[in-house]
Amino acid sequence: MAKPILVANWKNRPGSLSEAKALLKNLSKKSRLYKNLSVFIAPPAPYFDLVSTRTKNFAKLASQDIPPLSQGTFTGMITPEILKSFGVRLAIIGHSERRLLGETSTDVSEKIKTALRSGIAPLVCIGEKNRDADGEHFEFLRDELKKSLAGLNARSAREILIAYEPAWAIGKGAKDALIPSELTQSVIFLKKQLADLYGRSVAESIPILYGGSVEGENAGSLMRETYIRGFLVGHASLSAGSFEEIAESLISKP
Ligand code: PEP
Repeated sequence: MAKPILVANWKNRPGSLSEAKALLKNLSKKSRLYKNLSVFIAPPAPYFDLVSTRTKNFAKLASQDIPPLSQGTFTGMITPEILKSFGVRLAIIGHSERRLLGETSTDVSEKIKTALRSGIAPLVCIGEKNRDADGEHFEFLRDELKKSLAGLNARSAREILIAYEPAWAIGKGAKDALIPSELTQSVIFLKKQLADLYGRSVAESIPILYGGSVEGENAGSLMRETYIRGFLVGHASLSAGSFEEIAESLISKP
């Protein structure tokens, strides 16, 4: 049975190198716990070297984005080659905060292909902006998933991971997060869409993670009562204590 997956999205935090070092020092105190999981840390790029050196025995490096193209000269862009040279193994693609800045599902589909060509696993973020009682958001989810995976064949689809992250649930407290029964509905819906696109066996092989206000308080029930394979964690990954609580809850799933 594959290990549960825990991805830390540090976004643009911690605010300084010394704070990043302090966080890593505290995280490494629980390295034995993290070895039971497949842990990835996606720090701001200037911390890549620091993170990969200090988490070598318990976590892998991830990036928060990847460019849509792998060749050419592009000011400000971090190419897949550079990412690979630091040991980046997974790339978060299509995060709602990037989509808010104008990234489209077409961009996302190009980035997925670049990641796959470069041997970096794409963690594709999908999620509705709002949830409504009539289930209209399922249409949005279907459309975003289909467009983001456009042009991807079944063999390549086996290499991706999905992060279901409803935008409205991001960056809040555990009490405002999605509840397990709603998460179950969304995960089943996404699995069905993936099965329609690629067949049942491929759909079953694609891990679906959940992200959106996961904290120690809600992680256990979100994991136990749904069909997810792990979490993408934002703010709670910036506290060694909260991250540890989330890790514990992934391991204690029966
Ligand atoms: C995220 O932004 O990917 C995320 C899950 O954030 P948070 O955990 O803070 O809601």
